[in-house]
Amino acid sequence: RKRIGIMTSGGDAQGMNAAVRAIVRMALFRDCECFLIYDGYNGLISGGNKIVKAKREDVSGFLTLGGTVIGTARCAEFREKSGRQIAALNIIKSGIDSLVVIGGDGSLTGADNLRAEWHSHVEDLLDAGKISKEEAVAHDNLMIVGLVGSIDNDLATTDITIGAYSALARICEAIDALQITAFSHHRAFVVEVMGRNCGWLALSAAICTGADYVFIPEDPPKGKDWESRMCLALQNSRAAGKKTSLIIVAEGASDSELNPIKADYIESILTNRLKFDTRVTILGHVQRGGSPTFKDRLVATLQGAEAVEAILRADATTPSLIIGVLNNKITAQPLKSAIKLTKELTAEIAKKNFDKAVKLRSTTFTK
Ligand code: ADP
Repeated sequence: RKRIGIMTSGGDAQGMNAAVRAIVRMALFRDCECFLIYDGYNGLISGGNKIVKAKREDVSGFLTLGGTVIGTARCAEFREKSGRQIAALNIIKSGIDSLVVIGGDGSLTGADNLRAEWHSHVEDLLDAGKISKEEAVAHDNLMIVGLVGSIDNDLATTDITIGAYSALARICEAIDALQITAFSHHRAFVVEVMGRNCGWLALSAAICTGADYVFIPEDPPKGKDWESRMCLALQNSRAAGKKTSLIIVAEGASDSELNPIKADYIESILTNRLKFDTRVTILGHVQRGGSPTFKDRLVATLQGAEAVEAILRADATTPSLIIGVLNNKITAQPLKSAIKLTKELTAEIAKKNFDKAVKLRSTTFTK
């Protein structure tokens, strides 16, 4: 009988609760025991009342709630091996043999690190007399399954991450509202959206709102004359009768020399060169807020169910897994390679190899 620990970690994302609910319900249905771990890795390190055996009704009402009810955290202690050893002790004492982490690439890397050291933690704890021989034998493996909770859609090997569709929906609603007022005053709006070093939210929002221009980290404007090209495009669009201008800037956008492109700077160009009445809106945390849209409820629920199935299929040789979506199918793939590919992608941007970065992003971008 599997004993599954469930936690959310890192930045919150709409749909995390739906995933927690699905895992608990599926685990109980498949005759596993499950445990809710509160406040991310902080809870795993604190133990005690932060690790609670879950009943079916404990996740009632979770499906439609944004954020994460069981809490999340950024936990410096878990970055240290000593912190992870305390976590290992609490895992063993709770009887947990499989851990599902819903978080971004940082949280999933942390979980994989814990697993990589698992045997040495068990040996150390046994030597220190903190666990019994029986406990050491019963916990000779810790299965890790990751679900990617991230509004940024920034993980390689999955088409979509939990929260990204809801954040996109929120961005579109906000921009639609801005367009109404922009239209009345013939204004230009420069809107900054989240995404860290991933341009998926910005590019998708640009497509969905009919933006005139978009700046994303993976495909910076080429050459030194990009400002003139942008001005010309906006002028042409006004000349053709458009009454507003909309420019979307990803928070991680830069030019091809990696100098950040900020919304304020675009505003100054539009004001000074084009004499457009221009406003900047930085959408900020509203993008993370609100309830998950149907897409995130659906993806999170299907992925949560698959996480439990993956645990039931696993043996000691199964690597840590990440549950994703590829070509509309729920997938379970090795976590290590997904993280490695994601890091490679970020490194290519840092090396100004933008064409390579776009290619690597091709699993998350419609080409
Ligand atoms: P996200 O999971 O959203 O990417 P972070 O990168 O902030 O967010 O990671 C969340 C938490 O995961 C960190 O506060 C830390 O406790 C843990 N973590 C992140 N990276 C590592 C790592 N390399 N080793 C161990 N733990 C890590």
